[in-house]
Amino acid sequence: MVKAILEEGIMEEEVLDNVEEKIIVEKKEIKIDDLPGVGPATLEKLEKAGYSSLMSIAVASIAELVDASGLTDSAARKLLQSARENLDMGFQSGEDLMKRRERVIKLKVPAESLNNLLDGGFETGAIVEVFGQYGSGKTQIGHQLAVSCQLQGGKAVYIDTENTFRPERIKQMAVGLKLDPVEVLRNIKVARAYSSDHQMLLAEKVEELLREDKDIRLVIVDSLTAHFRGEFVGRGTLAPRQQKLNKHMRTLAKVADSYNVCILVTNQVMAKPDQFFGDPTEAIGGHIVGHNSTFRIYLRKGKKGTRVAKLIDSPNLPDSECSYMVTENGVIDI
Ligand code: ADP
Ligand code: MG
Repeated sequence: MVKAILEEGIMEEEVLDNVEEKIIVEKKEIKIDDLPGVGPATLEKLEKAGYSSLMSIAVASIAELVDASGLTDSAARKLLQSARENLDMGFQSGEDLMKRRERVIKLKVPAESLNNLLDGGFETGAIVEVFGQYGSGKTQIGHQLAVSCQLQGGKAVYIDTENTFRPERIKQMAVGLKLDPVEVLRNIKVARAYSSDHQMLLAEKVEELLREDKDIRLVIVDSLTAHFRGEFVGRGTLAPRQQKLNKHMRTLAKVADSYNVCILVTNQVMAKPDQFFGDPTEAIGGHIVGHNSTFRIYLRKGKKGTRVAKLIDSPNLPDSECSYMVTENGVIDI
């Protein structure tokens, strides 16, 4: 553990001694059935409805808990309160956060330039947004990561909203990495989302898969915004669209955090007619998507068939660019 911190090179040695002590004193963990009023039957109902941790209860509404558990209003209120009390919902020390950072895994693609752009790879516990024009290679990144994360023992879930998931393409990329294509395909669970509501439901259902299979390290939503954009058109629809999109992204953020998975979302761009300098496009979903994503990568086509990825607004990395290629074998360095 401590070694991992050292490798990240973020902490000084004297601080490290302190961290080590903290790690040894483990907190007694309170489970859902330790909460007042939760017997085996209620526990089962809660779990069935997807409430698997104190946090999931603490962030629910009373109505949602009543729905899920069959408890009365006042019992649900008590449940919610005690979940919040038992959960340290307040401030965490920098040390605690550093400890959380240690569980982060950086999922890699076969292009080191792209991994380096992200200081080692696509992080678990985070939402990574890949945006760019049609054909800029967003779906290719999704496919590639679903395959190459398996070299790190990971599995993937793919929520496909545009019907662009292609098993054939996965096979090519598996062969490119000398992996067994059948095995690789088996380790990717794909669900087609037919509407934004369906997509939101799938994002919630993903928790079931994650509970069952602890090897899943990656959840892809390709595309995050296409249904929302298609369904909410015309005047007066922007606010409800943004609200829904925000809710969806909060679900995804919770999943990323609770299960330590990387959430890769793809996003389109639209023309920005009033832009005379710089890039004349901007990502769909504006601030809602931008603020909910931990990392944002802008993709575009480069010279001679290359691709350019630009990291934007990272919390701890400089904005920078890299180039790579998309070939039959997958995403590789030039
Ligand atoms: P987006 O999702 O951003 O719309 P895609 O990820 O679908 O774009 O990218 C499509 C591009 O990926 C194609 O135009 C092509 O350049 C490249 N590509 C797709 N499949 C292959 C392949 N088998 N071999 C080489 N390049 C491919
Ligand atoms: Mg695509």
